[in-house]
Amino acid sequence: MSNVSSSTPAGAIGSIAPLFLPNPVTLYETRARRLCALAEYEPPLRDYLSFAAQVVMVQQALSRQDSDAPMPTTTLHVDWVTPPLSMARLLQDSFWQESLTTLLAALSPHVPTPVQTVLGRLKKLDTVQRTSAARALLDNDTSLTGSDGAPFFWAALSLTAMQRVARSKIVVDEKSGAERHLCPLCGNAPVASIVHPDGLRYLHCRLCESEWHVVRALCSNCEGSRDIDYWSLEKQFPAIKAESCGECHSYLKILYQKDDKDVDAVADDLASLALDARLEDEGFSRSSINPFLFPSS
Ligand SMILES: [Zn+2]
Ligand SMILES: [Zn+2]
Repeated sequence: MSNVSSSTPAGAIGSIAPLFLPNPVTLYETRARRLCALAEYEPPLRDYLSFAAQVVMVQQALSRQDSDAPMPTTTLHVDWVTPPLSMARLLQDSFWQESLTTLLAALSPHVPTPVQTVLGRLKKLDTVQRTSAARALLDNDTSLTGSDGAPFFWAALSLTAMQRVARSKIVVDEKSGAERHLCPLCGNAPVASIVHPDGLRYLHCRLCESEWHVVRALCSNCEGSRDIDYWSLEKQFPAIKAESCGECHSYLKILYQKDDKDVDAVADDLASLALDARLEDEGFSRSSINPFLFPSS
C-alpha cells in the first residue's frame, strides 16, 4: 500500500486525505516483490527476507480467495477516539484461524528444518489455544506463540484485519487535536512512517495496513515535538531515515517515496536492521514491532 496510486483515500478533509485504506489486490504482491528485491540487495539478510516473501505470497493467495467470498456490508466509523475494528471481534472471525491453518500447511514443505519444528508446534495447538495465543500476541505478549511462531499468527490476523477494513464502508469524522499515534481503525501501533511524494507523512498500521496522516513535526510515539532528530545510513538506505524523539527515547523508521517509489513499510523496515543497530547504540528503542521480528516476552 505504500504505492499511493494503489490505495484508497478515505474521508478527505480539505486537500489532505486523513486515511488511506489498504488495497487487498496489490498490497501483498507489491510487498513480496519488494522483499525479493531487498533480499538480493542485502545479502546478510537474504534468507530471512526470502522467508518473509514466502509468507507474504501465502497471504496474497488467501487474500484473493477471501475476495471471492460473500461478505456482509459493515460500516466502520472513525471518530479518532475509539478504533471501530474491535480486536475481540477479530479473534472471533473464523477467517484468521483458517488462514493460519493454510499458512502453516503451505509453508511446511518450503522452509528449513528449524522453522518446520516451529510450524509443527503451532499445528498442534487447538482452536482455543490458538485464540488465547493470538489474544496475548495482540497485547504484545509472545509467551504463547513464541517469538518464532508470532509472525505466522500475525500474518493471519493482519490479513483478516486488512480484509475487513478494505471491505467495509469507512466513515471518517473531521477532528483536530485528537491522538494520532495509534491506528484510528484498529488501535495498533505503526510499523513505520511513509512520506508520500507530496511531502505528507502517514503512519502505516502494522496490523490492518491502513495509513493515517500525522504532521511531520510530531513524534509518532508520544506526539512530543521538542527533540525530534533524523538519522540515516544514506549510502546503504537512501530512502530511509530513523526519526528519534528525545522526550520518549524511541524511534520509528520514516520512508520517503520521492527517493524510492517502491518502499514498503514492512519490507524496508525489516531490511534496514543496520539502522536499528545504529539507533540502539545511540540509546533509543524501537517504538514499533515489525510483523516478522517479534522480541521474546
Ligand atoms: Zn490498523
Ligand atoms: Zn516521543
